[in-house]
Amino acid sequence: MSRNTWSRYWNPKHETLPKEELRRLQLLKLQRLVARAWQESPYHRRIYERAGVYPDQIRSLDDLRRLPFMTREEWMACQAEHPLFGDMTTRPREEAIRYHLTSGTSGRQPLRVLDGRKDWSWIAEMWCYGFWGFGIRPHDTVYFAFSYGSFIGFWGAHYACEKMGCLVLPSGNMTTENRVRQIVEMGATAFCATPTYALRLGQTAQAMGIDLRRDARVQRVIVSGEPAGSIPATKKMIEEMWGAKCGDTAGMTEIGTIMIFECDEQPGGTHILEDHFIEEVLDPESGEPVPYGTKGERVVTSFGRGFIPLVRYRTRDMVEKVPHTECRCGRTGDLFRGGILGRFDDMKLVRGTNVYPRAVEAIVREHPEIEEFQIVLTREAGVRDEITVRVEVKEGAQAQWPRIEARLGKDLAAAHEGLRFNIALAARGELPRFELKAKRLQDLRDKS
Ligand SMILES: [Zn+2]
Repeated sequence: MSRNTWSRYWNPKHETLPKEELRRLQLLKLQRLVARAWQESPYHRRIYERAGVYPDQIRSLDDLRRLPFMTREEWMACQAEHPLFGDMTTRPREEAIRYHLTSGTSGRQPLRVLDGRKDWSWIAEMWCYGFWGFGIRPHDTVYFAFSYGSFIGFWGAHYACEKMGCLVLPSGNMTTENRVRQIVEMGATAFCATPTYALRLGQTAQAMGIDLRRDARVQRVIVSGEPAGSIPATKKMIEEMWGAKCGDTAGMTEIGTIMIFECDEQPGGTHILEDHFIEEVLDPESGEPVPYGTKGERVVTSFGRGFIPLVRYRTRDMVEKVPHTECRCGRTGDLFRGGILGRFDDMKLVRGTNVYPRAVEAIVREHPEIEEFQIVLTREAGVRDEITVRVEVKEGAQAQWPRIEARLGKDLAAAHEGLRFNIALAARGELPRFELKAKRLQDLRDKS
């Protein structure tokens, strides 16, 4: 097909299915998934028997709610009891072609995951929806700033770009400086990394005297791995630094791929791949569904995962679902407004007020003079909690510090029921920089 006649959709039929047909397709896939889980995974049969639910009872999508949740804790316990992979795998180990691990956040035991051949072709296919949907085409040269280890990260996106026919540049463990040089030399037209690293690489380029807007040819930056990709101020910062459009995607290791992506309309949210997933949004306490426009916990059912049936998996991700009509692109998959809004587990209680790192980042990034930041929680005299935002400002912005300090403190308090934040200036280069998932919050309250 010539450039002019390319569809804007990777899968024109499924991405625009009328809602009623989409629901029929989901029901059919759900029935097959539950029957297969029952038959092939001892873990699933056990929890379904315990809940008194049988595959032939799934007659409508509402019956999904009869099925018990899967949790990360149960998955870890299952792997401890039946090492190495638990008894929820449906195929023998000999059929696997790849091994990966979750990133093991907050000191938890990482999950060990196996994938088969079919899993991998599906993993790549999901990324194709997202990359194509944001405008990547076969003539693109796509640069991956990713270390290609046992963390799944952009592995699937790499294969998706090969599948679409792009020229793929895997940068492995190169230094940031060498990556900057290669992006310029090779004329990369798309760049993929975490939002944190997209900013860091931009800052490094500036320090090297390279202006990415002028010296590089990147038109699209696709980010993943952190909620920041849908924070408007962070996105704007990346777009201005690169002179490119920035699109968000989100996935998880347990699925092996992405389940949401931002289309080229940039509607302020991410479309759900509803022909391959059911994304429920539930009240995290009661487990009851919440209506459109209400924040809740996403619970995912994945139709494409072969080795491990993922049915009603509780993610602890906070999202807000809105109807597909909020975007003009014609896709019938609903949207998560603002992408992933953070994790319920990341919530910190400070003097009675809830603080989410993503919400703090959204405010900090409204201040273009700020280059890097860190949130530190301490407990003064053993009783009173203090929250401090440490800030590094850009070269030449130090003179404006009193103004930045006052405004940032005011903005943070206004968004947190008047909670007082301490604002502290850090020396240039003092705060840690990150490549994969940024850890900008330090909770020292048990230590101080
Ligand atoms: Zn759209």
